[in-house]
Amino acid sequence: MPPASKKAFRVLETASKFEGAPQSMGMQKTQYDIAVEQFQRAADIMKLDPNVQEILRKPRRILSVNFPVKMDDGRLLLYQGFRSQHNNALGPYKGGVRFHPNVTIDEVKALSMWMTWKCAVAGIPFGGAKGGVTVNPKQLSQSELEKLSRSFFSLISEIVGPYRDIPAPDVYTDSQTMAWFMDEYSKGEKNNAFAVVTGKPLIIGGSLGRDSATGRGVAITVEEAARHLKLNLKGATCAVQGFGNVGSWAYQFLEEDGVKIVAVSDSKGGAYKKSGIWFNDAASHKKKNGSVINLPDSQPITNEELLELDVDILIPAALEDVITKDNAKSIKAKLVAEGANGPTTPEADDILFHNGTTLIPDILANSGGVSTSYLEWVQNLQHLYWTADEVDHRLKNIMVKAFAEVYKTSQDHNVDMRTGAYIQAIGKVRDAMKIRGWV
Ligand code: NAD
Repeated sequence: MPPASKKAFRVLETASKFEGAPQSMGMQKTQYDIAVEQFQRAADIMKLDPNVQEILRKPRRILSVNFPVKMDDGRLLLYQGFRSQHNNALGPYKGGVRFHPNVTIDEVKALSMWMTWKCAVAGIPFGGAKGGVTVNPKQLSQSELEKLSRSFFSLISEIVGPYRDIPAPDVYTDSQTMAWFMDEYSKGEKNNAFAVVTGKPLIIGGSLGRDSATGRGVAITVEEAARHLKLNLKGATCAVQGFGNVGSWAYQFLEEDGVKIVAVSDSKGGAYKKSGIWFNDAASHKKKNGSVINLPDSQPITNEELLELDVDILIPAALEDVITKDNAKSIKAKLVAEGANGPTTPEADDILFHNGTTLIPDILANSGGVSTSYLEWVQNLQHLYWTADEVDHRLKNIMVKAFAEVYKTSQDHNVDMRTGAYIQAIGKVRDAMKIRGWV
């Protein structure tokens, strides 16, 4: 094994070198800029106490860690990771951990803020947090990934815990990562602390229904919106961007509702078929060929074209920033349900609202995932586990109630549903902060 030299000890170069660069330098808005802008819109309408605004614009605590991982060939590489805790007035912090080369402190801050609003909108007793490590996990072996996961978690364990901050999977982390996190934390605590993370494998305290939860939640919000819009889901047409966890489960539940999915895509491109694409056909084609492109009897379509199709329902369930000021005018769907986080920019929000499009915002539409994480946490704390039906039933109650509250708030203020969701969420957090004597 070669000795670890100083040269081999390096920090991976990341986008974080741009962190803090002002927009006046011509740089694009960061996710944190967008998060603050969305917050400010609602805060202005609510005439929110300036002291509360000041507190909520920034995370309460950000932990930045640098740690070495010994590679299989003996080299030591230094990695950087973060945990941002935005606000915990409503309960312990909650939010995923992502492993991705583009992770920056700025992104983690924005995501932690969105988690505060998402949990408040869903009415679950959590605050908002997010974490990440700047790494390309695809370049690591399984044992390197395990060492990285354990080191990161042991460093942030001074601020996490079942009643303090409960991480979960996010981009490029999964139930295996959560198993390592939980095990590392449990060693330190000298007991089985299952409730320290959610999204775990079933055998060590995971919940039934967690896999399908986000897509199920998206479908439930579409059903609720369709009732208000008097849109008959039987025979309604839909396009789904992204055929991963969220997109494929939303697809299945909407198909069960009688919706005709006419287009679907993944990172390689999309397929369109006027008469509709059955989920099983799309899934088996993707399994065999690695993509939904070239589905038999379908026409090829780009991811950009898919967004502009003349359909009743559009589900962006892949990436952020896909509906922008450049294409919002061309969106024809009456109903957009954001399965992905942040697919629509604030400028596009205004255009869609002006055009009469109903948009179910991410912090409501995809909150089924964190809501079922809450149900997993409750099961861990009570050591009593529910059937899949019980979990799904509880999730449905959470989603229906959250939708009704956001819909009413947006109607009362005559604003789009994103702003309605923000008003709803910020109001709850403000009330909790006031009654706790923080402001
Ligand atoms: P995933 O990795 O399972 O699936 C992502 C899908 O997007 C894949 O089909 C991939 O091929 C596709 N994709 C990637 N690049 C693309 C591109 N350039 N154009 C079109 N499609 C592309 O991820 P997921 O868990 O389904 O997450 C999707 C989105 O939903 C993300 O924004 C995520 O943050 C959000 N989300 C996920 C959950 C969850 O529980 N999984 C919860 C809340 C929010």
